Amino acid sequence: MIHKRKKSTITILNYHISQLIIEKKVHVIFLFILNMIISGVLPLLMVILPKLIIDAVSLKDYDYLVQVMIVFAVLITFLSTISNFIFTYLRAQGLAGRMNQTKLFNKKLKSIPFSFLESAQFQSEKKAAQATLTMGSSGFEGTFDDVSRILPKIISIIGFSIILGLFNVYIIPITIVVCFIQYRISLRGSKYALARNDELQEEKRKADYFIEVSTDFSYGKDIRVEQIEGQIINRLSKQNKRVMKVFKEISFFKYRMNLFDIVFIISINGLIYYLVVVAYFSNQITVGTVAMTIWTILAITLDLQFVFKNLAKLQEDTNYTDKFLQFLDKDFSNETWGSKQINTSDISIEFKDVYFKYPNSEEYVLKGLNFKIKAKGVMALVGINGAGKTTIVKLLCGFYQPLKGNILINGVDMKEYDIFSYREKLAIVFQDVNIYAASVLENITGPNPSDKDIDRAKTSLEKVGLLDKVLSYPNGFQQSLLKVIDETGTDLSGGEAQRLSIARAIYKQNTNIIILDEPTASLDAASEREIYNNFYQLIDDRTSIVISHRLASTRFCDSILFLENGKAIESGTHEQLMNIEHGKYREMFVTQGKYYQEENNDEL
Ligand code: ADP
Repeated sequence: MIHKRKKSTITILNYHISQLIIEKKVHVIFLFILNMIISGVLPLLMVILPKLIIDAVSLKDYDYLVQVMIVFAVLITFLSTISNFIFTYLRAQGLAGRMNQTKLFNKKLKSIPFSFLESAQFQSEKKAAQATLTMGSSGFEGTFDDVSRILPKIISIIGFSIILGLFNVYIIPITIVVCFIQYRISLRGSKYALARNDELQEEKRKADYFIEVSTDFSYGKDIRVEQIEGQIINRLSKQNKRVMKVFKEISFFKYRMNLFDIVFIISINGLIYYLVVVAYFSNQITVGTVAMTIWTILAITLDLQFVFKNLAKLQEDTNYTDKFLQFLDKDFSNETWGSKQINTSDISIEFKDVYFKYPNSEEYVLKGLNFKIKAKGVMALVGINGAGKTTIVKLLCGFYQPLKGNILINGVDMKEYDIFSYREKLAIVFQDVNIYAASVLENITGPNPSDKDIDRAKTSLEKVGLLDKVLSYPNGFQQSLLKVIDETGTDLSGGEAQRLSIARAIYKQNTNIIILDEPTASLDAASEREIYNNFYQLIDDRTSIVISHRLASTRFCDSILFLENGKAIESGTHEQLMNIEHGKYREMFVTQGKYYQEENNDEL
């Protein structure tokens, strides 16, 4: 990856401002300024008040004392209330802003070719970019917090400086220099943390994988059955140790830097206390001024320290956002597609001497593959695991492009089509079914279906034999699925989930190609038979490709392609392939036939 020059904190803050303007929230900028003034003036009142009280008491001027107390009480209560309100509002705006950036991020992800999503390096880059969105107190939202805290301090520090300057002008430059040194030290800590952040993220990503595997529903069964749980937990704890090691090193470095801070605070305060005491004993200042000066020293030291520390944090937070913006700006399109549209519902597919290997591997997965499916034809892809069947589907979806050879759609190279409008013509049932935490209906139609959509969804459910089941749910079509969002949600069985995903594919309107990748893998023999009995209704005049381990399904197809090691070694109709003596298809069919017979006998 080519790293672009890092953007400055100011550039990122400008990005924040531009986003507020785009989101039509200019008032937020004014609230930041109002917050700066109100929250900045409050601490000044807090150091002036003790001086006035002490001086009034020492002069025994009780009327004045009461007046001062009332005025200050009203002022402080009023300003604190407004300040608290604005501060809370600004924090909420930070959260809202983060959510909007998440939308931009998701939009970007959608535009990135699928081939990147399968690369580990891309996953790391994505994680680094996403970091700014996943943290509440740091990154994008943290920046709102930093700015709303730092700005008021600027007003306070100016006020405190004036108060101290009235007492002794040299105190101001000394304080600023000392605090600046503190800032540089604290910046070193943040820079170190940032420099090691990529490493930390990479180790965390690996740990996340093990956490995901050990908790994910779909893996849950394998873990219990294959007893690999112990192995995964073991690898997770090793990986956690690696994460902790990097984390500890970063924390220890920051801790060492903090020790310097303490030494500086003690020395600067000591010096100023000395000057105050000398001034009091030589009658230059009143007791009230002594109190005010001491409070001011304390307050300005803490404020300067706060500002410099938070400037370092602001820099760290904007750096996270910088990574995010680099990701948004990065051009991930390594593939070129044309602009041709498909204007017919008859679509033929041809693979012509197609070679393909995955970007991260050396070995060719498809090695000079040739086949043809006529418009509305139905082809079965058969072969053992790893033969390259799913890879063919990925190429047909335009997730990857062939390295050699061509895929012709209606006689035209697929690369010449506009990939997005081409994909609209595709209906696909993938092997791994995704069910969303939404209603049954929404799982098929997407959000806000019209009455017409609902009718079509019903027809789709009927075609896959799921309608009666859905109607038996307490809420029918509106029944929530999964329990993540709605506790009363229904968990579908593997077979039901698979039927639902077929229903989703056949619901998709104006599609002229349908690809079914192992559509019945989770179904029992009877349900499988039911699906295949309705097969022609399901594919509904579309050019179809069916991948199936169960060879019984291939009988419905008008051609069969037997793949081995990335090559088509046999092709033809079921009868033709069964007639090849010692043919691979025939051998597989006979073997499976025996197995099926046994299974059916068991059922009886
Ligand atoms: P099938 O669907 O026939 O079981 P696949 O098309 O999934 O086979 O896989 C064909 C070969 O490509 C296998 O050797 C598999 O390991 C490899 N493969 C699949 N996906 C990837 C990937 N993203 N990166 C590298 N190799 C892959």
